[in-house]
Amino acid sequence: MSFRLFDAPLREPSQFVGFAGNMIDRQSENRADNSVDKALADPTTRLLLMNGGRLYLKLGEGGGLDPWFGAAESKPFKVSFAQGVLLGFSERGPVLAVPAGVDAEHLPETIKAIDYRSVYMQGLIDEAAAGAMAQGAALLAWHASHRFCSKCGTESQMRAGGYKRHCPNCGTEHFPRTDPVAIMLTATREKCLLGRGRHFGPGMYSALAGFIEPGETIEAAVRRETLEEAGIRLGRVVYHASQPWPFPYSLMIGCFGEPLNDDIQADLNELEDCRWFARDEVRLMLTREHPGNLITPPKGAIAHHLIRAWVDSE
Ligand SMILES: [Zn+2]
Repeated sequence: MSFRLFDAPLREPSQFVGFAGNMIDRQSENRADNSVDKALADPTTRLLLMNGGRLYLKLGEGGGLDPWFGAAESKPFKVSFAQGVLLGFSERGPVLAVPAGVDAEHLPETIKAIDYRSVYMQGLIDEAAAGAMAQGAALLAWHASHRFCSKCGTESQMRAGGYKRHCPNCGTEHFPRTDPVAIMLTATREKCLLGRGRHFGPGMYSALAGFIEPGETIEAAVRRETLEEAGIRLGRVVYHASQPWPFPYSLMIGCFGEPLNDDIQADLNELEDCRWFARDEVRLMLTREHPGNLITPPKGAIAHHLIRAWVDSE
């Protein structure tokens, strides 16, 4: 067998998914405990303001939306600098994500608070900013739900500009977590397996997905989830691409799977429907031309990229 690792394409498939455009140099290993204060004293520092799953956006004169605030400019929004996280350093200077305290309905006309999913699905900010939003959203959500030491229950303290929490009682250090989720497109040359979750929008079918469990490889999780949700056993499983998914702090790991049987037994607790789709039908779903108005997930979603890569793989 020849060594083919570097025959992979120069542009990785992961580069095309939503939230993948983050250009920030995180400097995770070189952070002092005062790095947020140091960044706040730097006039080039830019902040993302976040509140309850929404990003604040400044409405520009031309109708454009700008997610970046200066430190002084952000003060009227009751920001908590003490709970702010240093995301790292961009070409233009330090970048912070900071929780804001003013509710959406009390914001001035020129500021919009828009939920992360809409910001990304509607392409309201550029890819670098969307990537920074994903990083900030995940970190702020982790801090909000990990205030207390999981070993002794004492309230812990943010350290290293938000890249860890320290317990003053037992000394344990806690690090931000990322939860891996397998998302897989089971496919042959002729057909692929798509399912419809109960919470999906009208007509949407997507690749199956589920959390990877402790002690499991990615491939084992792909096989287990496909068997549990659809009753389909898989042979080969290959990795395709990954996507940061800040809801609240997951990593979607996209794979293809080769089915060993045809007869679907859908888990109707999880799925409303699950069936095989022919390649031509899926092509119409991608281009929003399906006669029954069935659709695949939008462009930024990794499921879209898995499905698109399969349709184009003839
Ligand atoms: Zn502790």
